[in-house]
This record gives sequence, structure tokens and C-alpha cells, in this order.
Amino acid sequence: MAKDKTIHKADRGLSPSGFRSLQLIGPFLQPYRKAILGALVALMVAATTVLSIVGGLRYVIDKGFLAQDPSMLDKTLAQLLVAIVVLAFATFARYSLVSWLGERVAADLRRAVYNHILKLSPGFFEVTRAGDILSRLSSDTALLQSLIGSSISVALRNCILLIGGIGMMLLTNAKLTGYVMIGIVAIVVPIVIIGRRVRKLSRSNQERVADLTAAAEETIYGIRTVQAFVHEDISRKKFNDETENVVSAATRHIRARGLLTAIVIMLVFSGIGVMLWIGGHDVLNGTITAGQLSAFVGYAAIAAGAIGAVSETMGDLNRASGATERIFELLNEVPTIIAPTNPVAMPSPPRGDLAFEHVNFIYASRPDKPALDDISFTVKPGERVAVVGPSGAGKTTLYQMILRFYDPTSGVVRLDGVDIKTANPQDVRSRIGIVPQDSVIFSTTAAENIAYGNPDATPDMVRAAARAAFADDFLTALPQGYDTHLGEKGVRLSGGQRQRIAIARAILRNPSILLLDEATSALDAESERFVQDALDVLMQGRTTLIIAHRLATVTKADRILVLDQGKLVASGTHQSLIAEGGLYARLAALQFDQGG
Ligand code: ADP
Repeated sequence: MAKDKTIHKADRGLSPSGFRSLQLIGPFLQPYRKAILGALVALMVAATTVLSIVGGLRYVIDKGFLAQDPSMLDKTLAQLLVAIVVLAFATFARYSLVSWLGERVAADLRRAVYNHILKLSPGFFEVTRAGDILSRLSSDTALLQSLIGSSISVALRNCILLIGGIGMMLLTNAKLTGYVMIGIVAIVVPIVIIGRRVRKLSRSNQERVADLTAAAEETIYGIRTVQAFVHEDISRKKFNDETENVVSAATRHIRARGLLTAIVIMLVFSGIGVMLWIGGHDVLNGTITAGQLSAFVGYAAIAAGAIGAVSETMGDLNRASGATERIFELLNEVPTIIAPTNPVAMPSPPRGDLAFEHVNFIYASRPDKPALDDISFTVKPGERVAVVGPSGAGKTTLYQMILRFYDPTSGVVRLDGVDIKTANPQDVRSRIGIVPQDSVIFSTTAAENIAYGNPDATPDMVRAAARAAFADDFLTALPQGYDTHLGEKGVRLSGGQRQRIAIARAILRNPSILLLDEATSALDAESERFVQDALDVLMQGRTTLIIAHRLATVTKADRILVLDQGKLVASGTHQSLIAEGGLYARLAALQFDQGG
């Protein structure tokens, strides 16, 4: 599925939408109108100065050299010096303004993309590769940074030089300009044709790089699995193929781009040769002066150079246009879970009751089989309910519904009497605490890890939560106690310790509903006991759902819900369900860790 989506995007990327997508950046440039104006003025001043310096050449030759007038030569050179100083300052101003602009816009874009990612629903991340999202956040925004920070201004400067150069050529000699114009048409046509091919190849090159990043990323995240399965050779070969794909895509791109440059150079210099030949004859005939021809050649060189430079920046514009499309595709991704315009207020204080009313749910990627099939049950405040069932029964999906990571295909999930679809998802989630099987530890201090769901918590509150979760002892023993950076080298927490941090996090959050997912892997006996004790503290006075794998858990539960293939097949206490026989009795015999 992930692959499908990426390929689909690539197809769209190849459509000949040209540079239109670059307009999308417009709103991001808006706030910097003044800087843009300043840069434009600097750019105009610099370009005009360059043209005037070439114009000065005519006078140096005609009035200075050929008329043998030293004072004229001095005067012209003094003016030249002034022009050079103006050019230097204008260039400084343009460069600093434009580069700063590039940085600012890239930063704004990155922020916008990151903020948007935070809003997207979990479903999106299942069908989109993380590497794909990250490359949009980093490399694509970097491409736009270089576009705004240099390419656009290079292109603009050269457009001005081109127009100015042609204008001055016309003023100097119309006949020669006519020839040059014919030459320009002969140059532009092949550029446009080959440029189109270069654009396509550049895009395919970028896509191959994204594939490569995704392949490496998978390995890095799953390095243990890769090594445990002695999959290195296959991974190496796969990565090798990906790198070769990048090289061949890049080679095609380089070849096309090189060809483009070669053709431009050939045409430009042949054009100059022909022009010198015609112009030289005109000087010999006395139709134009040597100074005029020199200035004309100067202007033509500027114009030709400008065409070359513009064609070079076309590649950058192409790439940036692809990058813009990808960034905005992500920015336009609509979150599937959104707050209604007038969200219903959740009752206060939270009661902690939960109800499923005929809930059906089908994953978009698995339309053939419902993950939840007509599920109805209620959980009273403070009740402790174990959820059991074979793998794939729908237990995790049930939790996803309660957290409103997905909306039911039909039916209603009620929390404290409110259909959670009609409430603000953040209000719903803030009443829920989760302790997953694999607790996520963030790369920050132990204290901040515990305070994750409650950033206003005081150090005392953090400590109290840790104590209640039986985590205080091992946290205090860390090199810098609660200020120890977790996830850094040297700090390796055991599975049980990570869980106790997750439990402390949930205690501090003080939710009315708890969703626990019992670890399937056994902890060592001592850790196990601490985790159990910590969970007991956490569950006190809260409505608790627990995906249970251990006998002790199910026997202590007020009620057990048995799920199978998306259906709620039985409910009751351990004793009553065992007496009933059926799936639960079989599960109990096979699945529960009897030692617990
Ligand atoms: P359990 O937690 O009981 O093992 P799940 O809730 O994870 O079961 O899965 C229930 C069913 O939904 C399974 O058939 C599973 O394959 C399917 N499923 C789970 N997550 C997804 C998903 N993101 N996309 C498609 N199908 C899914």
C-alpha cells in the first residue's frame, strides 16, 4: 500500500505542470515583501551598472584610444571605478537579502510541514513511508531554500541582463542585433526541447534517492531484526541495487543536462563568431566604429551569458517545482480526524464511563474484512475490563476507536455519554491514559519523559508519580538522577523500567480511562512484580481496559470481553467463561501465561 501511494504520487509529479506549482510558495513570501523589494532594487541597480560598464568600453576605445585623448581615458576610467563600487555594494545587498529570504522561507515551510504532520491521523502514517515524509521536510525544503536564496535571483538578474543587453544592442546597431536575434531563436528552441527531458530525468533521479533513503531507514529502524535473521546479504544487495538505480537515474540526468550545456555553448560561440565576422567587415567598411563593435560584442556576450545562466537555473527551477509539489501535497493532506466546528463539551468532572454501540469498522486498506463487527458493550466508571482474543481479533483496533485515531464505519463510541465524534478529539484523548506494550521513551530527561502528558507538572509531582510507579529507586540511581538524558549512550533501561516510566507518565496525567496493553514478553520476576504493583496503583479508581495475556490479570478483572475475528463473542468473569467452555476456555488453556 505504502509503495502504491508513492508510485501514484510520482506519476502525478511527472505531469507537465511546469513551474505553476512554484506559485504555491507565494503566500510564504508575502511576509517578506520589503526584503523582496530591497533585493529587486539591488538587483536592478547591479544589472544596470554592468550594462553601463560595457557601454563605457565604447567611449574608452573610440574617444580614448582611437582619438588618442588621455584625459578622456582618465575620465572614463574614473567613472568606471564608481560604477564598480556601486556594483559591489548592490551585489552585497542582493546577496545578503536574498540568502536570508531563502533561510526564512525554508524555516517557515519546515514549521508549516511539521505542524501539519502533527495534525494528521495515524491512518495517514500507515500508508505513507516515514522516509518520504522526512525527505519532504528536509531535502525538499532545502531545494526551495536554494531556489529562493539563489536561483530565482540568478534567473532574474540574467533576465534583466538579457533584456538590457538586447536593448543596448539595438541602440548600438540594429542590423547586427537582427542577426543576433535569429541566433537567439536558434539557441532557445533546443533549450526548451532538451530542458523538458532534463526536467523529467531530474524528477526520476530524486525519486530514486527517496527509495534509497527509505530502504536505509527500514534497516536502521529494524537493525536487530535484520541481524537476527542474518538478512545482511539480502539487505546489502537490495541497497546496492537502489544505489545503482540512483546512479543510472543520475547518469541519464547528467547526460541530458551536459548535452544541453554543450549545445548552448556551441550555438552561443558560433553565433559570436559569425557576429564578429559580419561586424568586423562593417568596421573595415567604416559603417560602425571599433568602439561600437566592442561594446556590441560586450552586450552580446552578456546576453548570451544570461541565456546560458537562465538555462542552468531552469534545472534548479525544475527541481524546486517538483519539491514544491511534494511539500504542498503533504500540506494539503486533510486529516481524517478533525474537531467538529461546534464540538460538544465533555462533562466535567470526567466520569470514566465508556460505551460501544453497534460499532463496525473496516480499514480502508482491507475493505473485504471488518476489523470490528457490530461491537456493543458498556463499561461503568471504575470498572476493570480485560480484553482477550487471538491475534488479529481486533483488540488494538478497539483501542484505536476509543482514542479516536479512526472513526467507526458505523455505530457510536461514547465517552462519559458523549459521542466522541462530536467532541474535540483532544478533549477525548486528554481523558485517556495509555500504557502500551512497548513504552516509547523520548530522547530527553527522565523527568521530562514522565511529565510528557502534563508539562506543567512540578518536580515534586513528577517524583510522586515515579514513586507511585515504583520507578523512583532506579531513576534516582541514574548518573544524573531525574535529569539523566534517557536514550543517550550508557543509559539503557530494561523493559520493566521503561514500562514503569510509562506508568508514571500515565499516573501524572491522571486520566479517567486507562488503556493498558499487557506485555506479551515475560519480564524478569522482580521487574514483573514492580510493574504489577505499579499498575495496581495506576488502576485504582479508574476505568480500565486491559488487553490481557496473563492469568492473574483476567482473574482479577471485573469482566472479560472475548473478541474473535472482530466480533464480541462472549463476556463474563473468568469462572463463568471457563464454565461456558468455548473460545475463552481454549484461550485460557493455551494462551495465558500461567505463571503470572
Ligand atoms: P489484535 O490487536 O487483536 O491482534 P488488531 O486490532 O490489530 O487485532 O487487528 C484486527 C484486524 O484488523 C486484523 O485482521 C488485522 O489484520 C487488521 N488490521 C489491523 N490494523 C490494520 C491496518 N492498519 N490496516 C489494515 N488492516 C489492519
